[in-house]
Amino acid sequence: MHASAAERLLHHYRSTARTLPWRAPPGAPRTDPYRVWLSEVMLQQTTVATVTPRFLRFVERWPTIEALAEASDEEILAEWAGLGYYARARNLIACARAVAERGSFPTSEAELRQLPGLGPYTAAAIAAIGFGKDSVPVDTNVERVVARVFALSSKQQVPVAAKGWWPKGQSGDFAQALMDLGATICRPKAPRCNDCPLQADCRAAALNTPEVFPARVAKKERPHRFGLAWWSRRGDAVWLVRRPPRGLLGGMAALPGPEWTAERHAANPLAVARHGFTHFTLDLLLIARSEPVGEGWWQPIPELAEAGLPTLYRRAVEAGLAAEQEPRLAA
Ligand code: SF4
Repeated sequence: MHASAAERLLHHYRSTARTLPWRAPPGAPRTDPYRVWLSEVMLQQTTVATVTPRFLRFVERWPTIEALAEASDEEILAEWAGLGYYARARNLIACARAVAERGSFPTSEAELRQLPGLGPYTAAAIAAIGFGKDSVPVDTNVERVVARVFALSSKQQVPVAAKGWWPKGQSGDFAQALMDLGATICRPKAPRCNDCPLQADCRAAALNTPEVFPARVAKKERPHRFGLAWWSRRGDAVWLVRRPPRGLLGGMAALPGPEWTAERHAANPLAVARHGFTHFTLDLLLIARSEPVGEGWWQPIPELAEAGLPTLYRRAVEAGLAAEQEPRLAA
């Protein structure tokens, strides 16, 4: 691979870089590592369009990692509501407190890896983008571009090829240039090779088969699980509880109910809310109860947004409210 290909990509990036609230423009002083870290945690499994307004709210409310570390779990989890993958939020809280306690983020990739929730990619991204280290963060966009440029059929081959190609001293900009290229030009389907600064050096483009790289792994079908949720109303309020701190949706506001199982319950539900988790699909059956169950609180319906319900339970409450309206509508 020609070094000039990397130069051409960086040149292209300088004039086309996406404007993102967690990013410094090319050539500007580096971004605060707090913003790099926060954005990278939010962007895991979530799109830029969804993350952007949520990121802005977070940094307005907690402008520094110290401020975030002082916030309560409930405040942070409520602010996170709707972003999904709540284990990330719990790791975010643990990481903020660990960094605040030690005084600042460590600067090396190896030390960053020791922080709660920081995997190899996030640690490399903070080291490269936040601290200017020669680290090589490989996310799905970078992986796709590198696999195509080198015509690598296996994703396992990508990190070595990427390391060999990565220019020293410009790691952060190069990573962001590849991320942008993957998001805008070297897209999973119908890559715009004619607009790509890497076209002259790209083996997949030369083979005229860019879309076959990297080879896709067949997805397993997601298993189905079922749960019950107790639906208790009083006036204009619904009974909510807080889930146990550990496990899926740990610490989040929720409707009360027993553990989810693989068997569908023989119940006649008021409504059913379906939600796709990473490893399974859940059908949550709402069962009306005259008395509230468990330790919780009456949440006024007009103030539901403040409860910080995760998407599953927000959908369930919406389904319950809609179901309550049905007999009246039919009447
Ligand atoms: S030439 Fe095409 S396949 Fe190759 S990196 Fe550019 S957009 Fe991707």
